[in-house]
Amino acid sequence: MSQTPEAFPAHDWSRRFDRQTRFAPLGRAGQLRLQQADVLVVGCGALGGAAAHALARCGIGRLRLADRDVVEESNLPRQVLFQPSQIGQPKVEAAAATLTALGGPTRVDAHALHVDARALEELGADVDLVLDGTDNLATRYLLNDWAVARDKRWIYAGVVGASGLVLGVRPRRGPCLRCLFPSPAPAGSLETCDSAGVILPAVEMVASLQVALALRWLSADAPDTSATERLQRIDAWRGECVSLELARDPDCPSCGHGRFEFLEAAADRAPIVLCGRNTVQIQGRAAGLDAGALAARLRTAGVHVEQAGRMLRFESDGVRFTVFPDARALLEGTDDPVRARSLYDRWIGR
Ligand SMILES: [Zn+2]
Repeated sequence: MSQTPEAFPAHDWSRRFDRQTRFAPLGRAGQLRLQQADVLVVGCGALGGAAAHALARCGIGRLRLADRDVVEESNLPRQVLFQPSQIGQPKVEAAAATLTALGGPTRVDAHALHVDARALEELGADVDLVLDGTDNLATRYLLNDWAVARDKRWIYAGVVGASGLVLGVRPRRGPCLRCLFPSPAPAGSLETCDSAGVILPAVEMVASLQVALALRWLSADAPDTSATERLQRIDAWRGECVSLELARDPDCPSCGHGRFEFLEAAADRAPIVLCGRNTVQIQGRAAGLDAGALAARLRTAGVHVEQAGRMLRFESDGVRFTVFPDARALLEGTDDPVRARSLYDRWIGR
């Protein structure tokens, strides 16, 4: 007589997680909740990879990883899941291989895709929590709008250079990303990891704060109902860690007024492949382009830039960029919309 899978007892992981469950705020009951939790990690580079690694070590039940990029040599100093032999592989597949090798109760799903509104709905509708491991503001504002509209908890995290921020978002209870920063800065105006660099200790500090909060929320027997949340800011180089108490902004466009323009605009901003021209057009955005700041950043990064008024031209990664004042860009040298979007976000779109 064959046995059905249900006839086998569930594996007892208590020995593996012994030291973790001895930590009183977690305990055995908390650990069992972690093993039933379902988490989506958006972006699987430095931050997302460090967070996914910690969550898998801690025994989260299910991890869904979403990322569109492939492993590159320059990822290795801070993207802890990847080995040199994995260069060229999709990041989520390389990450899933590393995490699965840890054993334990965690089921890992790899999704190699650009995270847009549809992907969030498909991958995130049933999860308990979403972690921000992205490297661009466009995806973060989309994620915030989606999470507030869907009443889904998420944890914002960002790191550049040696400093970073973490904010847990419990929609309509605590503050959301737009209570803190109502609008993203104009495209090109902020430092990014490609211009200012980034170091591993900052990534690990930010990911650790993000994961500690995730464990606290997911292991709790009741949701946190407090009206405030702590914005945590670190500087790994100076050894600084500052925590500020934040409340909601009643005038917040997203959680205050229910205006989800990033979610609504997302459908219109799909890349357009210009047939027969080996060119992809990436749509602009309402905030426009800060051409001067972008040109300065590109030059700092060693990229040769031609500037004509508020229009810029430059070349990188074998692709020629033409960027217009509304932040629309033509990328000549590729007909792959996912690669074009990735290059746009890397050089312009944050
Ligand atoms: Zn808000």
